[in-house]
Amino acid sequence: MEIRTIKADSGQLRPKPDQSNLAFGDIFTDHMFMMDYETGKGWFDPRIVPYGDFCIDPAAMAIHYGQEIFEGLKAYRSKDDHIYLFRPEENLKRFNRSASRLCMPNVDIGFFLECMKQFIRTDKDWIPQNDGTSLYIRPAMIATEAHLGVRPSNKYLCFIILCPVGAYYKEGLDPVTIYVEDKYVRASIGGTGEAKVAGNYAASLLAAEKAKEKGFTQVLWLDAAERKYIEEVGTMNMFFVIDDEVVAAPLTGSVLPGITRDSVIQLVKDWGIKVSERSLSIDEVINAAENGSLKEAFGTGTAAVISPVGQM
Ligand SMILES: *Cc1c(COP(=O)(O)O)cnc(C)c1O
Repeated sequence: MEIRTIKADSGQLRPKPDQSNLAFGDIFTDHMFMMDYETGKGWFDPRIVPYGDFCIDPAAMAIHYGQEIFEGLKAYRSKDDHIYLFRPEENLKRFNRSASRLCMPNVDIGFFLECMKQFIRTDKDWIPQNDGTSLYIRPAMIATEAHLGVRPSNKYLCFIILCPVGAYYKEGLDPVTIYVEDKYVRASIGGTGEAKVAGNYAASLLAAEKAKEKGFTQVLWLDAAERKYIEEVGTMNMFFVIDDEVVAAPLTGSVLPGITRDSVIQLVKDWGIKVSERSLSIDEVINAAENGSLKEAFGTGTAAVISPVGQM
């Protein structure tokens, strides 16, 4: 399939941000990528077009029944001006797993990666180079068929937007504070916790708002059945260092399988440090904190990078 490109004209170009003062998620580049799908026809018309509003039907099924999935990965520009993506195939494999979970069509990973690369090259001047900055890449897919009634849509829009970013948390690399949630739950086994879907985030907002009122940055989710075992934090997988063991909360089915998490586990193993993926109760963490064996707690995620936890 040919990728069409319609370049933004000079009137459509957007002002570039100050790299030394980048926040997260407010600024988008000059273009966006789009591709459509219809049952029986497959994916068609992949295109890079000027960034702008979509036109979608008010009956589009994504709006009513929540068929939406997304991904998040980053591009970096090196001192010698090369562009690097971090394990992008892993993100696209997860994109397809999320799609399958919500009865949405898969993409061809090789082709979609090529679209993404071509798009990033089009907007490469937007990749910031300062320490701690990057270009955040947000692929997403929404159901666009105009239909009321619950069943999988027959039409989809897959798109990518790009966003030059700095630190995800206002704390930067300073420790974040985390509220251990024992009332609300994020996901349960058999649900959609291991898919990257918008609905998981919608379900998490109330607990996050309440935690914020109490002065915490994020929510630490416990398992839905017993409210006892560590699952993860809003947008990060969790690690604890207890004595000389690095413990990662296991992928039970209700936890998002993070690519940063996987990379950290591989690196720590390579360094010859003991790393376990095992269930870890909040009581064990509290005990370890009290008896001094809890050495570190940190979260991992593409947006949050590696964030130390200062208080729970
Ligand atoms: C995306 C995400 C993560 C982090 O995954 P990475 O692949 O490391 O970016 C963790 N938890 C949730 C709920 C997420 O949506």
